[in-house]
Amino acid sequence: MTTINCQVTVCSHNKSGVCYANCVDIVGSSAMEDYDTCCGSFLNKLHYAELTNNTLSSGSCDCLKCTVETCTFNNNNLCKLDNIQVSGEKVYYYTQTACDSFKLGR
Ligand code: SF4
Ligand code: SF4
Repeated sequence: MTTINCQVTVCSHNKSGVCYANCVDIVGSSAMEDYDTCCGSFLNKLHYAELTNNTLSSGSCDCLKCTVETCTFNNNNLCKLDNIQVSGEKVYYYTQTACDSFKLGR
């Protein structure tokens, strides 16, 4: 199971720096650098937090999918790492996030 540490505190799935989304999709199919990747599951708190509870009560996110095939840790659209770091400052759109754990490998 992969733990997703995330500094994007404006995301409504974020609880104390850990992701509690039901499922996370990291995207960026031809990425060459970490900033070419992003979290497609980002939900801006400004829009959604007051409408629904977006943090899972059963625990942190244990469903991580990733389409970044150029990353050395990608195996059939799954991530091989035990934990990853997602980052982003002053995020408004999901494209402003990134998987910091990306490593160019293929
Ligand atoms: S930006 Fe992505 S990884 Fe971070 S809390 Fe939101 S859904 Fe989870
Ligand atoms: S480390 Fe690589 S394979 Fe894992 S989520 Fe990040 S970009 Fe995808």
